[in-house]
Amino acid sequence: MLELRTPGELDAMRAAGEVVAQVLAAVREAVAPGVRLRELDDVARDALRAAGAGAPFEHYRMLPSMPAYPAVICTSVNDVALHGIPTVRRLEEGDLLSVDAGASVDGWVGDSAISLTVGAPSAEDAALIATTERALQAGIAAAVAGARLGDVSAAIGAVGRSAGYGVNTDHGGHGVGRTMHEEPHVPNEGRPGRGVRLRPGLVVAIEPWFMAGGDDSYWIDEDGWSVRTGDGSRAAHVEHTVAVTEDGPRILTAAAVRSSVG
Ligand code: MG
Ligand code: MG
Repeated sequence: MLELRTPGELDAMRAAGEVVAQVLAAVREAVAPGVRLRELDDVARDALRAAGAGAPFEHYRMLPSMPAYPAVICTSVNDVALHGIPTVRRLEEGDLLSVDAGASVDGWVGDSAISLTVGAPSAEDAALIATTERALQAGIAAAVAGARLGDVSAAIGAVGRSAGYGVNTDHGGHGVGRTMHEEPHVPNEGRPGRGVRLRPGLVVAIEPWFMAGGDDSYWIDEDGWSVRTGDGSRAAHVEHTVAVTEDGPRILTAAAVRSSVG
């Protein structure tokens, strides 16, 4: 069943989303050659603690039989597309890093991800990240009341395919609410005009991830979490938690615009 949120609940979810944006900004600031992935997790932990927010990623299990997730963010480097565990690995100049973060505030969850390079990007990495961000914007633009979920999926997939990137629909977006993963699944490719009708109050994480080599396959590392590209090429992943409203898509995990007036 799809749960719809009231305007007041969306404001409460925005509070969680704003913390996620703060976490990602703090982690982005800390990214530099030589920094360990685990140190980025510490930065995220500090930001969550400062905001009085919970960490929905920590102890998360895909299945009861699977290992619990050991960190508050995912740090996915180069051929790791998703769910990379922050280890003692040090960042190196030229690495392509995706950071996925969650926060919970008053029982509501936000979920968002960014991709960036350590130092200046290669032309290939810059294009991959820019295209993935463009797909996110296309998916958000399609998340309007009266449209269908397939419109969002189709918008995302079209951007990735036109660039020749690999797209896989096993992992994708999802409903967000009091828990991180709710219905519906939001595949990163689909047919327009199909799927559930989008109604005001529906909240979904929209999260394109594309693989530069063009292969659609992936494999799971022996750590039980890291999603690695099948062809070893680099991947980028970006995400926002978005609400469908009467006034159009509302990005709940956008960074707050601080006024310097006054
Ligand atoms: Mg996420
Ligand atoms: Mg997500």
